Amino acid sequence: MDNTIKCKLYKKCGGCQIHNLTYDKQLEFKMKKVVRLMGKFHHVEDIIGMDSPYHYRNKVQAAFGRDRNNRIISGVYQSSTHPVDSCLIDDQKADEIIVTIRKLIKSFKMKPFDDVKMTGFLRHVLIKRGFLSGEIMVVLVTGEEEFKSKRSFINALIGRHPEITTIVQNINNKRTSLVLGGKSIVLYGSGVIKEQLCGYTFTISPKAFYQINPVQTEILYNKAMEFADIQNSDIVIDAYCGTGTIGIIASKFAKRVIGVELNKVAVKDARVNAKLNDIKNIDFVCADAGRYMVDIAEEGLTADVVIMDPPRAGSDIKFLKSLVKLSPRKVVYISCNPETCARDVLFLSKNKYKVRKIQPVDMFPHTEHVECVVMLSK
Ligand code: SAH
Repeated sequence: MDNTIKCKLYKKCGGCQIHNLTYDKQLEFKMKKVVRLMGKFHHVEDIIGMDSPYHYRNKVQAAFGRDRNNRIISGVYQSSTHPVDSCLIDDQKADEIIVTIRKLIKSFKMKPFDDVKMTGFLRHVLIKRGFLSGEIMVVLVTGEEEFKSKRSFINALIGRHPEITTIVQNINNKRTSLVLGGKSIVLYGSGVIKEQLCGYTFTISPKAFYQINPVQTEILYNKAMEFADIQNSDIVIDAYCGTGTIGIIASKFAKRVIGVELNKVAVKDARVNAKLNDIKNIDFVCADAGRYMVDIAEEGLTADVVIMDPPRAGSDIKFLKSLVKLSPRKVVYISCNPETCARDVLFLSKNKYKVRKIQPVDMFPHTEHVECVVMLSK
């Protein structure tokens, strides 16, 4: 095998598209991509890579099923269902727990879920780990609610992995590509884990979005704060705020922060997070970020700094137009997709803003994805 290729399954899996390149070459590839898309706006700073670009994922998901010989298998990686026990980018402890669960379901004579017949029990296992807090959540996604020998199964799992802090059963009996279903039952512990980021504590629930590479997230958010350069009289909007991480980190510099997020559960988590950190100058609004910006722009309210972290599809024209109308001193755009970022930044650069900084950060080594923080001001 080529020295650079450390994973036998890299071609079949498709999760790590550029794993065939050395890490330096990967960074060069990502840098070129950002320069191609964003270089026309401003000089692009050197990409910030990882010292050790392996096992960085704090969230691991495995699908359960059977192979052609009817043996129970589990696949831990992203874009395929080939069986594999460990992955170069996953947290190793999480992969170990998944292997233990596969052995246990055999000895407990549990059936893996069959996606075609829609029968059987264990469908997926989702594991989230707080790298700093040490807390670990195991979510057992099952096709039915009835869980035979539930107590002894939990005891066996905890017995083998006492480091697990909570176990949740989630029921998903729908024909869907989504991993999690609507109902969750806490089987052990509190049903959530806590994790530290940039000196604050955050709760992570089974469904909440939380950045999957904690080491690089801290670097990314610190860059965003440096670029935002918030003053203590500033009103800051954290648009697309998820569970409130960026807004909470910004709150100590600002007079007031408003987080806007569409997902109700995330907003609830964000409010819990603000309370947990005893932050009083932050509020969260559950709304479409574009709609909210239009509303406050019409009311004649102002914001000094807008930090935005939209999903891969980027922002929309409604949001961008009201952003221009709101006219904050600074816009910090955190993007996981330089293509949509370039499109949105082009609009802003035609409407009184100028790009002042572009900082790429490698959040997902071995994959083709690249994250950027862009600072614009008038
Ligand atoms: N800033 C957060 C989350 C970023 S992910 C963090 O770093 O953890 C993008 C978030 O945008 C998701 O939580 C998603 O629910 C939210 N979102 C997507 N479309 C939205 C919209 N139109 N208005 C508000 N939030 C939206």
